[in-house]
Amino acid sequence: SAKEAGRNRYQFHSEDMTSSATDRLSLERELRGAIEREEIFTVYQPQIELTTGQVIGVEALMRWQHPRLGLVSPADFIPVAEDNGLILSLGERIMRDSCLQARRWCDDHGVGSVAVNVSAVQFRQKNFTDVVLSVVAETGLRPECLELEVTESVVMRGVESAVHKLRTLGAQGIKIAIDDFGTGYSSLSYLRQFSVNRLKIDKSFIHDLPDKDAEAIVCAIVTMGRSLSLRVIAEGVETEAQEKFLQNVECNESQGYLYAKPMVASELEAWLTRWSSRKQNGGLSIVQDG
Ligand code: C2E
Ligand code: MG
Ligand code: MG
Ligand code: MG
Repeated sequence: SAKEAGRNRYQFHSEDMTSSATDRLSLERELRGAIEREEIFTVYQPQIELTTGQVIGVEALMRWQHPRLGLVSPADFIPVAEDNGLILSLGERIMRDSCLQARRWCDDHGVGSVAVNVSAVQFRQKNFTDVVLSVVAETGLRPECLELEVTESVVMRGVESAVHKLRTLGAQGIKIAIDDFGTGYSSLSYLRQFSVNRLKIDKSFIHDLPDKDAEAIVCAIVTMGRSLSLRVIAEGVETEAQEKFLQNVECNESQGYLYAKPMVASELEAWLTRWSSRKQNGGLSIVQDG
């Protein structure tokens, strides 16, 4: 199936392209050039509230359009950018772009927030909170409209400084989501201390629906989120059956190809307009235009 093909491609890429040292070296050289040639850009994927169909946010995702290699997956080039430190400037740039865009989307389309992925290397920086707060200040985005996505391993690695950083950001109104939730290793007691707002159920569990174990895990995360007063979003939602299951267990939000693939800013704006006009005609999962 297409789903399986997508999965295989992902694995194929990360093994094939980053295993050999020469490939990795050339990818590193290419990446430096890519930044100068401005081949790296941002796409945005909508996040939908399951009870209302409203777009409550968008996630920003990095893309690299290479003239020869084609579209290089972030799963392949982000580890390289982390190794050579380029992720610091790339990460700051995507955050700035996203905040600038989100200002318009929040005002014109009622989009609640823009979610930006944060790499372990960025998060580890001593001045990480200063970087985030100055981007927010410079772009004029309301801090409540920025959400940072961190994984369990990123925050659990240096728990004490993580608590401090996340609380500092949280105190300024910035939202925190735990990405790929359920695949890592986190302590429930820390989830409270981290001032987390949202859990993102990893797409591997959604992909496996319907399946007894996956259902049990999704259900447990939703229940836990509810009792800790955290919003829960499912990622990688591709089918109406998956959406139905999520609605039944009262998961709050949903993101995936069922609604839209990640899109460049102008496409997202057109999509937002279509989505709100079609929503009035009823129905939540609206088939995308080709
Ligand atoms: P992630 O943050 O967990 O993002 C979810 C991934 O699932 C994205 O892959 C997204 O395009 C994909 N996706 C969305 N809906 C569906 C669906 O219905 N089905 C399937 N099969 N996949 C779906 P993408 O864009 O290739 O990004 C992969 C990972 O690379 C991200 O995982 C994130 O960890 C990392 N990444 C992407 N952009 C950035 C960035 O700007 N900074 C950092 N530090 N990491 C990034
Ligand atoms: Mg993410
Ligand atoms: Mg994820
Ligand atoms: Mg991930």
